[in-house]
Amino acid sequence: MLTQNAPLLEIRQLNVSYANLQVLWDVSLSIGEGEIVTLLGANGAGKTSLVQSIFGLNKPRSGSILFRGKAITGIAPYDVVRQGIMLVPEKRELFPKMTVRENLMLGSYSHTGNMADIGEIYALFPALQERTDQLAGTLSGGEQQMLAIARALMARPSMIVLDEPSLGLSPLLVTTVLDSVQSLNKGGLTILLVEQNVQHALEISHRAYILENGRITREGFASELLKDDQIREAYLGL
Ligand code: ATP
Repeated sequence: MLTQNAPLLEIRQLNVSYANLQVLWDVSLSIGEGEIVTLLGANGAGKTSLVQSIFGLNKPRSGSILFRGKAITGIAPYDVVRQGIMLVPEKRELFPKMTVRENLMLGSYSHTGNMADIGEIYALFPALQERTDQLAGTLSGGEQQMLAIARALMARPSMIVLDEPSLGLSPLLVTTVLDSVQSLNKGGLTILLVEQNVQHALEISHRAYILENGRITREGFASELLKDDQIREAYLGL
């Protein structure tokens, strides 16, 4: 176990199947308070299935998920959110015909009854403040990703799970988005980052797990994985 701080989220021996197709096999991982942990894996490795299990969107066949030491396995998504953990989904799921401000105001914070001040959120993302009255559907890809993250923060979570935030973004925007993720972490937010953008994700993370065909095959400090020849060859094409 490499985690230094007390685990905030812990997954133990998780098995997930869709009908007869098992997609996660004995997956165990933990995220310490204050960490950024990256989950890396190729297409179809099972990353989204794992994220969906955390948020009660699919029911594991066996295993457990604990948040602050308390089992949350299989509870309803809004109850997971109430514990202080928010999902920024892969497809961002914004309301395109509503403004930036309306998207922030209509975020899932209502499930927690614990809403951030919009001014605090705009202080973190000044580019969104400048676009407060712009329709979300007209924002650039990077701005939409920022808005999706900002909306999750409206619930004042202690942890967020980011499902492939760099998907579809230009290299420059990937840097902007992941740099903001790192600043949020420096401000105390615990983050599980699901990514295919290996180099940059490892650069901003404390630790990482590698998921291959539904199994965790490696785990370690991100700085060490970045130097590992096998990882560089398999994931960085170096
Ligand atoms: P990607 O990076 O392409 O999004 P992923 O690592 O997130 O991939 P998953 O989406 O979790 O992987 O998919 C893992 C496996 O589970 C795949 O073989 C996929 O076809 C299968 N799968 C995912 N969702 C379902 C479902 N609802 N019903 C049946 N099979 C599914």
